[in-house]
Formats: sequence, structure tokens, C-alpha cells
Amino acid sequence: MTGVEAIAELFAGPGARDYLGEPVTIGSHMRQAGHLAEAAGAEGSLVAAALLHDIGHLRNETDSRHGDAGAQWLSQWFGTAVTEPVRLHVAAKRYLCATEPGYFGLLSAESVRTLALQGGPMTAGQAAEFEAMPFAQDAVAVRRWDDEAKDPVITPPEFAYFAPLLARLARS
Ligand code: FE
Repeated sequence: MTGVEAIAELFAGPGARDYLGEPVTIGSHMRQAGHLAEAAGAEGSLVAAALLHDIGHLRNETDSRHGDAGAQWLSQWFGTAVTEPVRLHVAAKRYLCATEPGYFGLLSAESVRTLALQGGPMTAGQAAEFEAMPFAQDAVAVRRWDDEAKDPVITPPEFAYFAPLLARLARS
């Protein structure tokens, strides 16, 4: 099975599940995030990162582990421009809570609940460390699309729409 086929299976199966505490399925949420990235003019690798950011959830990872575990799994096929924003999107939430006034107020109730499990807002030292990491800004961008991609009315493109992009980025 190719990477794209393995990912397609996850979107078709677990992706149809409810996203605990959110008004959309997890697959719709992820496809909305990918679509928002594309609409913002992001480059292909960042569109893929937005689309795939919760792949760890589709593989039944916990709230605190899903970024790391998802990135690790994706690294079979994708480089760091895709995997690092996925890995860091949870940290990016903790970062934005610490550094951006008003950000916390934008979070869904479920995001607030999981924030505590994920370590809460960063300290100033942790935020400075985060900023120095390669792909930190890409992770912040993914995080913002992630927060926005919970609209129950929007029907995002199907997975098949994104498959050629993933095939182009994946090493076989
Ligand atoms: Fe998400």
C-alpha cells in the first residue's frame, strides 16, 4: 500500500467518526483545514500539513500524543515541511495561549478542555524555545486553520481532491 492509500483508508474509515465535542466529523475538520490553507495560498507542503494535522487522532492516539505520533507515522513518506507543523500544532496552541492576547477566547470548549491535558499555556521560556524551532511559524499557521475548521455548514472537498497533492509530495 502506498502512503496515499493508507491515508485515504483512514479518511474513509475513522475519518467519518464524530470529532469528540466538535460539530463536525474529524475527516471533515481535517479537509476543512487543508482547504483553508489552500485558500490562503499556502504552499503544497503546508496544505498537506493542515490536511493531515490530526492524522494521529485517526490512528487512535490520545489528545496529548496525537501530534507527535501523527508526525512520526507520516515521516514514512513525507519530509519535515509536512511532518513538523503536524508535530508542533499542539505546542502551537500552547504557544498562542501564552503570547497572543485574545487567542484563548477563540478556542472551542473542547480545545480548552484538552489544553490542560496538553500542558496548559507555555511559560515565556518555553515560548521563546518554540519560536526558535524550524517550522514554528508553519505550525502556528496550521493551528489557526485548525481552530477555524470546525464549521458544520461547510462541505470541504473530498479526500480525493487532495490525493494528487499528497502523491506529489510523498516519496514512494
Ligand atoms: Fe485539529
